[in-house]
Amino acid sequence: MQPSSLTVLKISRITCLFVMLLCVQSVHAQDRAKYVFYFIGDGMGPLQREVGQQYLVGVTGDANAKLEMDQLPVQGFLQTHSANASITDSAAAGTALACGVKTNNGVICMAPDKQTKLTTLAEHVHQAGVKVGILTSVTLDHATPACFYAHQPSRNMVFQISQELAASPFAYFAGGGLSGKSANGIDNLQVAAQNGFHITRSRQALIDAKPGQRVIAFNERMDSDRRPLPWEADRMSNDISLATFTEHAIRLLENDKGFFMMVEGGMIDWAGHGNAVRTMAHEVIALDHAIKAALDFYNKHPNDTLIVITADHETGGMQHDGHPNPTYLASQTTSYDHFKTKLKQLVEKKADFKTAYQMAQIHFGIDEQPEKNIAFLQKAWQALLDGQRIVHNHGKNNDFTEAFLKLSANAAGYRFTTHGHSAADVPISAIGVGAQHFEGNFDNTQVPRKIYQIMTGKEMP
Ligand SMILES: [Zn+2]
Repeated sequence: MQPSSLTVLKISRITCLFVMLLCVQSVHAQDRAKYVFYFIGDGMGPLQREVGQQYLVGVTGDANAKLEMDQLPVQGFLQTHSANASITDSAAAGTALACGVKTNNGVICMAPDKQTKLTTLAEHVHQAGVKVGILTSVTLDHATPACFYAHQPSRNMVFQISQELAASPFAYFAGGGLSGKSANGIDNLQVAAQNGFHITRSRQALIDAKPGQRVIAFNERMDSDRRPLPWEADRMSNDISLATFTEHAIRLLENDKGFFMMVEGGMIDWAGHGNAVRTMAHEVIALDHAIKAALDFYNKHPNDTLIVITADHETGGMQHDGHPNPTYLASQTTSYDHFKTKLKQLVEKKADFKTAYQMAQIHFGIDEQPEKNIAFLQKAWQALLDGQRIVHNHGKNNDFTEAFLKLSANAAGYRFTTHGHSAADVPISAIGVGAQHFEGNFDNTQVPRKIYQIMTGKEMP
């Protein structure tokens, strides 16, 4: 029996409505990101990224080799100034990137009045039922990660910051250590454990952690409570990399309601402060490996995932000095910090200039120097023998180290103009659901607001 024309009309109307509903739903589904990766390269300006890319060219021998982050379809730039300075620090920039509000340098997710607490993007989406992970290669109480879970008038209040971590409802923290203990005996890691966190201090313990457990994951070699991951250039096989922490974040956080994770490459900034170009190249690569882990996930869930990669500011005021030298950048080396350790040993042994000079030449891959440079280096070496201190800081070094770092930057085709931050705009890259919103040049406060909108369909409060 043929259905009556009325029935056909009814069915086709219902079908039409159904299709329309489906369409509306799929538009929404396409607009909403269920899984969000937010990568922040601390101090990663355009030339820091180029250094990483040139390292890849050197390693692969492929002149067209590119970082994962440089291959994403959407590329833009961010302005980074803080509320009170044209050159921001990581606390004010972290606040902008986490809370969408400008504050003063040094302040962690509070308004410039240092009284008004701001709510972070991570806290907002956690309230909406999304699981949150905070990952970094530096310590978890450092400014950038802190800006996603803590609210303090000063970034130096690391104990109070770690107290907030211990009380946090988030699902996963991973990276370097934490300022655990106070003078009066309070141990924030113990408090965190009482608050339900499972704390892992080895690769195996992290592997054994189960989805549903709330985890604070540290590296294997953690002999103090406040130690960053090793420099990527010095990483040993038993060290847990930022990429591995990211893979476990995905495994532990994946759930029906989605996840949000912030992953910081924190030591790009430190290498920038040190003006250490090859150490920096390794740190950019370490972050790019973590991005690769996110892209593998994205490829399995392209309709639900957003990946955003940016920076809080540029560090080192890098400039070109001739052409980049990929072969030099990719040549085998340990970190500049490790160099300083070797230098210290030579000072202790009261080694002669020639020994120190040759060690530095080999470490930095530097050619025989002209007479006037030798004279300067001889004086610099004598100053070390006379008691000038070799400090493991992330800033200006002793003259001997400083001279070789300068030669190294020149050999790589770059020059640093400061040991501090600069006001340069920083790149932003994106792929996935809503990625098109990150095109162009805009203010860093817009980033969390855009992410929130893409995750929830609503404006960030
Ligand atoms: Zn810095």
